[in-house]
Amino acid sequence: MALGNEPEERYSGLNMDSEIHIVGGGLAGSEAAWQAAQGGARAVLHEMRPVRSTDAHKTDGLAELVCSNSFRSDDWENNAVGLLHEEMRRAGSLILRAGDAHRVPAGGALAVDRDGFSQAVTHTLEGHPRIQIRREEIAWPLEDWRSVIIATGPLTAPKLADAIRTRTGEESLAFFDAIAPVVYRESIDMSVAWMQSRYDKGDGADYINCPLDEAQYRAFVAALLAGAKTEFKDWETSTPYFEGCLPIEVMAARGEDTLRFGPMKPVGLSDPRTGRRPYAVVQLRQDNALGTLWNVVGFQTKLKHAEQTRIFRTIPGLENASFARLGGLHRNTFLNSPRLLDGALRLKAEPRIRFAGQITGVEGYVESAAMGLLAGRFAVGELLGRAVRPPPPATALGALLAHITQGADAKTFQPMNVNFGLFPELAASERVRGRDRKKAMAHRALADLDVWLGQTRAAAE
Ligand SMILES: Cc1cc2nc3c(=O)[nH]c(=O)nc-3n(C[C@H](O)[C@H](O)[C@H](O)COP(=O)(O)OP(=O)(O)OC[C@H]3O[C@@H](n4cnc5c(N)ncnc54)[C@H](O)[C@@H]3O)c2cc1C
Repeated sequence: MALGNEPEERYSGLNMDSEIHIVGGGLAGSEAAWQAAQGGARAVLHEMRPVRSTDAHKTDGLAELVCSNSFRSDDWENNAVGLLHEEMRRAGSLILRAGDAHRVPAGGALAVDRDGFSQAVTHTLEGHPRIQIRREEIAWPLEDWRSVIIATGPLTAPKLADAIRTRTGEESLAFFDAIAPVVYRESIDMSVAWMQSRYDKGDGADYINCPLDEAQYRAFVAALLAGAKTEFKDWETSTPYFEGCLPIEVMAARGEDTLRFGPMKPVGLSDPRTGRRPYAVVQLRQDNALGTLWNVVGFQTKLKHAEQTRIFRTIPGLENASFARLGGLHRNTFLNSPRLLDGALRLKAEPRIRFAGQITGVEGYVESAAMGLLAGRFAVGELLGRAVRPPPPATALGALLAHITQGADAKTFQPMNVNFGLFPELAASERVRGRDRKKAMAHRALADLDVWLGQTRAAAE
């Protein structure tokens, strides 16, 4: 179902000069098209699926979630991505509206029914009077497109990736990213597993937990290390992993206890059969609204498919697991944004072209959509003669933008999730410790954001 778009007018009064071309209809491109159209421009969204697909996408829907169905923590006072959610809601984000409308239970996280979410974004954009969607692959934006946003993501089609490489002089645009398996709920043995959120957050029982004792855990780690992995092609061997999304077998290789302090940590959980905290735990999170599919949290992997089935079935409760999807590993494309982009996400060498989404070197669904939101706002402001200033650096939107365009070291640049480390320190008079520090930063961020949104609105009137 489409979400209301409150259009002010159809194409009347707008000509080709007020057209913004957005390449890629993922998280970032969909948000950029929405922001551009809501801001008064005409948006043409070029999405190559279903004409051509990627290694990870499965549908022709816009804003398809290729792996997890989670937008991570929704706690704006204590978590930077939760704060980014709240800022985007205040800035009229389509991705957050669709996410809120298709929410599934996930403790303190915002997780969504992936199909309902993608359909809501698709139908809303299709129904918008100022948006045209063209299903075609773009090799490079036409020279007469005055305003362009490239949001083709980590799996940018090869021709466009080559064109970007040629024009920017980038030697390489890649690193590796992995996806986690999904299990059918009916195949999980609930006489062994139990429902509980860590520290009973959210509804208290949003996750399925499979307990492992010490011997089971050690055998599982040994099996991961010995299991057959997908081999890399020669040209892939020099491509690094993203540290925030390591395959489990890579984590296991770092030390026998690494997983027990990572995705398999048992803290905040108590096995009802023993009344005690297990030695280690595997958690599954609901993946669709029906509750029939469950995602194995943090279990992205490059184990061969037959090995995944064999090894994951050694987990108590998953002995008869049936997998709706197995894990996998993909190449990921991103720019050296600190070197190539200006503070409004424009390519310095060709300012008619902006970039947005994961290709700018942010990491994650929400961060990608956030850069789409900013690119759309910047583009429409520029086109209609009311330049939009970047959001203040103490906001999550501003901190992330400042990091990728200015703050990060171009020599060592790697994709970045939003986090409070990117925010400017509190003034000496406001300084507080621990969780109160995050709260103070979050409150400062929303106050600054509201001023910025007010200024942007006033400039548009
Ligand atoms: C395998 C994998 C798993 C990931 N898992 C997660 C996860 O679990 N959680 C998370 O937060 N993030 C994850 N990410 C990272 C990232 O947040 C997502 O990839 C996110 O979808 C990025 O948003 P985007 O809009 O930049 O790109 P996308 O959502 O990928 O959208 C890009 C769009 O551009 C289209 N396109 C590409 N080239 C062209 C072209 N030349 N012409 C026209 N259209 C084109 C594609 O078809 C696609 O629809 C994952 C990434 C990968 C690769």
